[in-house]
Amino acid sequence: MAEKLQTRCVIAGGGPAGIMAGYLLARAGVPVIVLEKHADFFRDFRGDTIHPSTLELMRELGLLDEFLKQPHQVVRELRAVVNGQVVTIADFTKLPTRCKFIAFMPQWDFLNFLSSHARRFPNFQLHMETEVVDLLIDNGRVTGVRAKTPRGELDVHADLVIGADGRHSIIQSRAGFQRREFGVPIDVLWMRISKKQNDPEQTLGFFQHGKLLVLLDRGDYWQCGFVIPKGGFDEIKARGLPQFQNDIVSFAGFLRDRVAELDEWTKIKLLTVQINRLRDWCREGLLCIGDSAHAMSPAGGVGINLAIQDAVATANLLARKLRTGPVSVDDLLKVQARREWPTRLIQAMQVFIHRQVVTGQMSDWKGSLPFVVRLLKWFPVLRQIPARFIGIGPRPEHYCSRGR
Ligand SMILES: Cc1cc2nc3c(=O)[nH]c(=O)nc-3n(C[C@H](O)[C@H](O)[C@H](O)COP(=O)(O)OP(=O)(O)OC[C@H]3O[C@@H](n4cnc5c(N)ncnc54)[C@H](O)[C@@H]3O)c2cc1C
Repeated sequence: MAEKLQTRCVIAGGGPAGIMAGYLLARAGVPVIVLEKHADFFRDFRGDTIHPSTLELMRELGLLDEFLKQPHQVVRELRAVVNGQVVTIADFTKLPTRCKFIAFMPQWDFLNFLSSHARRFPNFQLHMETEVVDLLIDNGRVTGVRAKTPRGELDVHADLVIGADGRHSIIQSRAGFQRREFGVPIDVLWMRISKKQNDPEQTLGFFQHGKLLVLLDRGDYWQCGFVIPKGGFDEIKARGLPQFQNDIVSFAGFLRDRVAELDEWTKIKLLTVQINRLRDWCREGLLCIGDSAHAMSPAGGVGINLAIQDAVATANLLARKLRTGPVSVDDLLKVQARREWPTRLIQAMQVFIHRQVVTGQMSDWKGSLPFVVRLLKWFPVLRQIPARFIGIGPRPEHYCSRGR
């Protein structure tokens, strides 16, 4: 016999979208339960970028000063090394936000911080090790979720289910939502290599002859992302580890003395990249947000920001009604209407980056800088455009304390 709980809103998934939505709804007085399948937030190789618009949101929530006490690295410019030439791609220092930088912070620290603040609201519950396995549906209306816990089955009945369970969302598949896939020609190999004092500062992308290595400065180590053609990992493995180590060194020569740290394939994680979007994000009693509604590629590092913006729009548009009762499909459609075009725009940009930059034009860059990159070099003021797109994004959401 399944244990039963009743609440106003149940959220599947404790990632950036789920925890932010849970925090904001609880703060607005809505009883909310968040279910997260893992026992903690400690998972490696999650995006760790906190964007200026998210920092602005933390300011609006009165949490910024405390938040910035968490260990983090500050990135004021994104730099790339294109065929050996260093170019600044984005300059965040002129953004119209309090924090004119991206904060690199382990995502588990961000989620622990936010969930610890959410727990201060008596109407907020977070259940870890609780995996949603099905939707509860009554007469076509979603009325809750069924979850698996170490103690057995749990049914949570609610007026609203929010699917924030990421790109392999069980909620969207059980809801029968149609998904549009955008072919992605790349995957990413993700690994860490130690950092030394004399290493270059905050160098983020090495583009070379149609290939890309991204190095993220994580204090005492580099988090490395090596972009490969989709499905190409087996071929790389077949060529052997020494060859792979040489590939890394050919991008970033200063890693030569420690690339041997990558001495087992288990230290190199394959992350498959997807871009997709649901046609309908909602039905009666259910709304999907974040990667569950639209899986994002790492290109531009904007997926977390977008997921958080979805959560803010959800709370702004639904909290007032949810405090006292259910919301209608029309209310849920307002969330989709508000968040769909920023999503479309960013995904179109990501598809462009994949198709035209990573696999197409970049192969022809041999020895020279592409025209757009040259423009950024000649006219520094133009670096504010990518900074705005990455750091704030289209249609930034602001905290609205009473809901709309
Ligand atoms: C290789 C790679 C690197 C990336 N790097 C960046 C980056 O640097 N910056 C950036 O902004 N974006 C990055 N992204 C994109 C970013 O990871 C996502 O867009 C973002 O995490 C979406 O947040 P979310 O909360 O919607 O989903 P997620 O972060 O995926 O969170 C979903 C949560 O739901 C939980 N969950 C899943 N299923 C269930 C279930 N059945 N029951 C209960 N819980 C469940 C998961 O454990 C997880 O905690 C990257 C993506 C990839 C693939």
